[in-house]
Amino acid sequence: MLRLTEIKLPLDHSDDDLKNAIIKKLGINPDELISYSIFKRSYDARKRSKITLVYHLDAETSRNDELLQRLQNDPHVKHTPDTRYHFVAEAPENLTSRPIVIGTGPCGLFAGLILAQMGFRPIILERGKSVRERTADTFGMWRNKKELDPESNVQFGEGGAGTFSDGKLHTQIKDRKHHGRKVLTELVKAGAPEEILYISKPHVGTYKLVTVVEHIRKTIESLGGEIRFQSRVDDLLIEDNQVAGVKLANGEQIISKHVILAVGHSARDTFQMLYNQGVAIEAKPFSIGLRVEHPQSLIDQSRFGKFAGHPLLGAADYKLVHHCKNGRSVYSFCMCPGGTVVAAASEPGGVVTNGMSQYSRNERNANSAIVVEVTPKDYPGHPLAGIDFQRHWEECAFIEGGSNYEAPAQRVGDFLSGQPSLMSGAVEPSYKPGIRLGDLSRCLPDYATEAIREALVAFNRKIEGFSMADAMLTGVETRTSSPIIIQRKADYQSLNTDGLYPAGEGAGYAGGILSSAIDGIKAAEAVALNMLEK
Ligand SMILES: Cc1cc2nc3c(=O)[nH]c(=O)nc-3n(C[C@H](O)[C@H](O)[C@H](O)COP(=O)(O)OP(=O)(O)OC[C@H]3O[C@@H](n4cnc5c(N)ncnc54)[C@H](O)[C@@H]3O)c2cc1C
Repeated sequence: MLRLTEIKLPLDHSDDDLKNAIIKKLGINPDELISYSIFKRSYDARKRSKITLVYHLDAETSRNDELLQRLQNDPHVKHTPDTRYHFVAEAPENLTSRPIVIGTGPCGLFAGLILAQMGFRPIILERGKSVRERTADTFGMWRNKKELDPESNVQFGEGGAGTFSDGKLHTQIKDRKHHGRKVLTELVKAGAPEEILYISKPHVGTYKLVTVVEHIRKTIESLGGEIRFQSRVDDLLIEDNQVAGVKLANGEQIISKHVILAVGHSARDTFQMLYNQGVAIEAKPFSIGLRVEHPQSLIDQSRFGKFAGHPLLGAADYKLVHHCKNGRSVYSFCMCPGGTVVAAASEPGGVVTNGMSQYSRNERNANSAIVVEVTPKDYPGHPLAGIDFQRHWEECAFIEGGSNYEAPAQRVGDFLSGQPSLMSGAVEPSYKPGIRLGDLSRCLPDYATEAIREALVAFNRKIEGFSMADAMLTGVETRTSSPIIIQRKADYQSLNTDGLYPAGEGAGYAGGILSSAIDGIKAAEAVALNMLEK
């Protein structure tokens, strides 16, 4: 096959236009093109008046070798690379020991899946409930029908933190071995839309993710793996700096010398336990800020002009960054086109915001977090001090919201002029269970408030209307990434505890669904190779 890149066509082109573009690019007769498929499709919207689709295509012709020779100096025609996944090991049939995976977020789920596919029959331990029960708890809390359950919420339970999300599936990490392709392929097998394999910024959306997660669990079980819910790991068994197993909240001990730790960024009690056990941990930077909501139509118009609403473009997103006079950088994070703002706390007495969308992305508002990077200099002295820092601002937001899990909210106009909001305007806030108007500067350090004010105005120069007075802010956004890094060696084992494989977002090695899943695959490969060696 030949991989053709950077084939550009207008938005409303036909299938024949695409076929003709391939024929023209390769300089062949129509009957010499046997077949073709789309490897990737993106759009170039830098010129709003002339938005184009950009294709990477795989073409089969009757003259592949000759064409490769003739076009060898063309950087946009190459041999199609092998992007299939190749397993690194296979468990012998008589293997009796079993690896443990803690957590069923994208990292733990994919670690478990790969181990199961290689025949290692993992035992996967999840503190929360199965995804259907968890959905009832989480949506129940949002609809004010249930209390926040610290073990079953947006952060904890089958599927992990990204289950109720926009399900964006792109990452900027280098992925030379195409692990990302393996993740997307498995997601499609489990029921995700096939287009995630070829559109450049795919997303799945909340409801579809629930089914996908359930399907992957069934696959793991069919391969001899075991998934146990409501099984919180409260302690590690460690002998001579080597993991010997885990202890669950109910006192049960499970013995294994290979434990993948994929607990996500909100497992604060687990981080404390690891620290108490002497596992190597350091504080790391993360970001805090607020969620902003605009009419989606404003973002569509600004990005796509007359093409706003085109089905191939969908609801527009954005990515913004501003370097402030006070030395801080502010950027947009986890943008959810046509979505809603959701309650993402996992601890009683705190309010945390985040965003989610359905696959259709057809809610009225666009939302994204506008966040400021903070570093251990802002929370000095202790490896876990970033957690106290997060908790402090989450508690401030809880109080400002009325101490009942409503989120404090403020119009952008009032936030910029330093006045509490007394009434909302044209943009109706979507946060559930509800909002209480107030003053968000009470929920952030002064330097962050100052930086976000400056950035909102600067962003208005990129997206006209971004700092419109009626745009709505809610807060506080603290769980952007892990406040710690659990240090590991090149072989994925903890720096000072053999057999412990810290992985995914909580350990500080990923940020997002796709990168966490990829890290889970790599941790599984490391475990498999080590188990066969010993
Ligand atoms: C509302 C929301 C929307 C998001 N939207 C997106 C998006 O659109 N795209 C994107 O790329 N990312 C998104 N993210 C971020 C993404 O979800 C995370 O980056 C990703 O889930 C991290 O994966 P992980 O497996 O490392 O950890 P997690 O997904 O956090 O999973 C960790 C799991 O471990 C379990 N656990 C924790 N401690 C223990 C213990 N002691 N014992 C047993 N089990 C334990 C938890 O219950 C949890 O299920 C979103 C996050 C949220 C909260």
